[in-house]
Amino acid sequence: MRTPLMAGNWKMHKTSAEARELAQAVRERIAPASDREVLLCPPFTAIPAVAEVLSGSPIRLGAQNMHWEPKGAFTGEVSGEMLRDLGCEYVIVGHSERRHIFGEQDEILHRKVKAAFRAGLRPIFCVGEMLEERDAGKEREVVERQLRNGLAGLTEQETKVLVVAYEPVWAIGTGRTATPDVAQTMHEHVRTVLADIWSGPIADGIRIQYGGSVKPDNVASLMAEPDIDGALVGGASLDAESFGRIVMFPSS
Ligand code: PEP
Repeated sequence: MRTPLMAGNWKMHKTSAEARELAQAVRERIAPASDREVLLCPPFTAIPAVAEVLSGSPIRLGAQNMHWEPKGAFTGEVSGEMLRDLGCEYVIVGHSERRHIFGEQDEILHRKVKAAFRAGLRPIFCVGEMLEERDAGKEREVVERQLRNGLAGLTEQETKVLVVAYEPVWAIGTGRTATPDVAQTMHEHVRTVLADIWSGPIADGIRIQYGGSVKPDNVASLMAEPDIDGALVGGASLDAESFGRIVMFPSS
């Protein structure tokens, strides 16, 4: 049984004061539930404020990115160790905005995944095809390459805390959600690749989140699919009411 992970990626939104207010509103709306795990990923600067608000609650804290070295001359970067120090448990690695706006490629993302484990963080490793790649019928190939390159050489122990997020780039921030069918087909493909890299039982234990315009009115149908184990939510996580409704989706 995989516990769904419902995560909010706040991207580059919210000052510390605004983040505190949003985290508080989320905390008030979300009833503790053992059948789902909730995670907030604020921008780096708001992590301490959100950590304070979430203290004593079951809601987890994560970051949106990290550097692959623990410390050093890397102006403007933040390490996994620094994130752990602030109370983060998770870190998003390879979000499509990091891949496509900041040019992060498989090799760099692989280093970040390994560094996250080293720092004691659980990476949420994002994969997903662009619209042109889907139109060219290459979505399976693209996602397989991202998985094999990004996750090469993980130990069995590391696979136990790994989370994968399938986020088709054409669905992120566009209001165009993948249908449950399309998402399930890709999630099944992701799980098959993971089984090929490790084994069926290991792949069965790895949570695969869906991300791409998840909203209160489409979350339940997505979560009803057998290989969808949670959601990575961008825009709708900036509103406590919407995010609360997404997190508390009725489970079948
Ligand atoms: C995301 O940022 O990971 C995302 C899925 O964004 P949105 O929900 O806004 O599409």
